[in-house]
This record gives sequence, structure tokens and C-alpha cells, in this order.
Amino acid sequence: MKIVVLVKEVPDTYGDRKLDLETGLAQRAASERVIDEIGERALEVALSHADANAGTEVVVLSMAPEEAQASVRKALAMGAASAVQVVDPALAGADLGVTAKVLAAAVQRAGFDLVITGNLSTDGSGGVIPAMIAERLGVPQATALSAVTITDTTVSGTRATDAGTAQVSAPLPAVISITEALPDARFPNFKGIMAAKKKPLEVVTLADLGIDVDPASAPQTILTAVGAKPPRGAGVKITDEGDAGEQLAAFLIENRLA
Ligand SMILES: Cc1cc2nc3c(=O)[nH]c(=O)nc-3n(C[C@H](O)[C@H](O)[C@H](O)COP(=O)(O)OP(=O)(O)OC[C@H]3O[C@@H](n4cnc5c(N)ncnc54)[C@H](O)[C@@H]3O)c2cc1C
Repeated sequence: MKIVVLVKEVPDTYGDRKLDLETGLAQRAASERVIDEIGERALEVALSHADANAGTEVVVLSMAPEEAQASVRKALAMGAASAVQVVDPALAGADLGVTAKVLAAAVQRAGFDLVITGNLSTDGSGGVIPAMIAERLGVPQATALSAVTITDTTVSGTRATDAGTAQVSAPLPAVISITEALPDARFPNFKGIMAAKKKPLEVVTLADLGIDVDPASAPQTILTAVGAKPPRGAGVKITDEGDAGEQLAAFLIENRLA
């Protein structure tokens, strides 16, 4: 079985993240860049299955600038057998539609029985890439799974919804996305880090995928106002002289926090 896991490099959520105030896009160079944690969990689902099922091949796929290669190598060090990185200057600021088109073409080119993704990235937070890819590949999708069981012919699991949970299943080939309810990913060990240096990492361009993205045609961009974070004020100190509760309530109302 061939499992393709989609991992995205994102600005580290534990650090300071910045937006470009002119374009509204994330300033990726301004933060430490890491594999999105949900992508690592998706990889863990695939690697755990591979550990228990000989003959399972795990491929990681990422659409990211050249500088993201260290993140892709980390996924190899964790245990993926090979990686594909889609790199093309025309993809800077790619919107959801272009991202899904490119990733689906790269999945198709790699070949797959199952595609595993995160349900939501921590930077773009679109939450629709898995469904868009499944549509483009013409295969079933089972999204937001908090538990996953993979057999030779099916994938099934528990899908969290606002109203509760549902048991879902789909025949393979299929696309699934997983939630943070699934276990943390393993750490790459020394052996894995050394092995990763020799594992295949294929860099492909849009031309390799037969996709033409016209840089002149603007992506579908939703831009509300983007501004610098206001400097932190000194704050208000309330001394309790019997009326601290009232003062606190007045402060909350005045600042529209109540
Ligand atoms: C500041 C900012 C503004 C943005 N504004 C817009 C906008 O106005 N319009 C618009 O259409 N998009 C916008 N985006 C989305 C941006 O283009 C996305 O990074 C990209 O389209 C993927 O969407 P997502 O991360 O929201 O996907 P999600 O659907 O949240 O991702 C789900 C899963 O898909 C996989 N995945 C997603 N992207 C990749 C990737 N590159 N490589 C490998 N796997 C991947 C991962 O497994 C991920 O966990 C914006 C992003 C940022 C950071």
C-alpha cells in the first residue's frame, strides 16, 4: 500500500508570527519555520500503520519554497521512505484553489492508495484542502477523523462533528484528514536522521506537473484591513477599597469585553 502524507511548513506557533502589512501574506522569513504539528500527526498515522504492516510505503509531499527542505528532511528522518517537494516561484502566495490543484497533481503523479492530511493548517486555516484534493482526484474523502483504521481495501474512522461523532468508512483509494485527537508524532532518532540524508527527495516544478499558473492573474485573495499590532499599554491597576468588583465590571463594559 502507498500512503501519501501532506505536510506543510508553517511559521512556528510558539514564536512571534508576522504578516506583511502590504500584501497581507504571512512573513515566513520572520519566524522559525517548522512542519505543522497536525501534519506530523498525519505522518504518525501513516508510520504507525507501516510499522505494523510490511509492504506499506509512506511518501511525504509538501508544496513549499526551496528553504523548506529541512522540514521535508525531518519528515524523512521520522520514517517516511521518500519525499516530493513542489517548488516553483510562481507559487508564492498561492491561494487555496491553486494549492489544491498542485497538490492533487503531485499526488496523482506519485501514485497513491491513501492520502492523509491534517484537517486544518495553523497558518492558512482554510480547512478545505483535503476535500478539494479528493474532488480533483475523484476519490472519496473522510475528513476530521479522530480515530483511523486502515485495511488493505478500506479506511474507516470516527468523524467529529458539532453534533457528536459519526463512524465513517470509504473504499481505497481515498483521502482522509485527521484531527489533533490523534497521537503526537514520534521524534526522529539519530539513526533516522542519518538515514534521511540518503532517502530520495524529489523536487518537482509546475512544468513537471503540467500545470500553468499565470503569475499575472491574482489569486483569490480575501483582504480585510491588515495593520501592525498596537503597542502594549501600561494596563489599569485596580486597588480594592470595597468597590473592586464594580470597577472591574465598568472596565470590562468600557472595553467591550463583557
Ligand atoms: C496570512 C495568510 C493569508 C491567506 N489568505 C488567503 C486568501 O485570501 N485566499 C486563499 O485562498 N488562501 C489564503 N491563504 C491560504 C494559503 O494560500 C494557504 O497556505 C494554502 O492555500 C493552503 O491552505 P491552508 O493552509 O489554509 O489549508 P488547509 O485546508 O487548512 O490545510 C489542511 C491540510 O492540507 C495540507 N496542506 C495544505 N497546504 C499544504 C502545502 N502547501 N503542502 C502540503 N500540504 C498542505 C496539510 O496536510 C494541512 O494540514 C492565506 C494564508 C496565509 C498564511
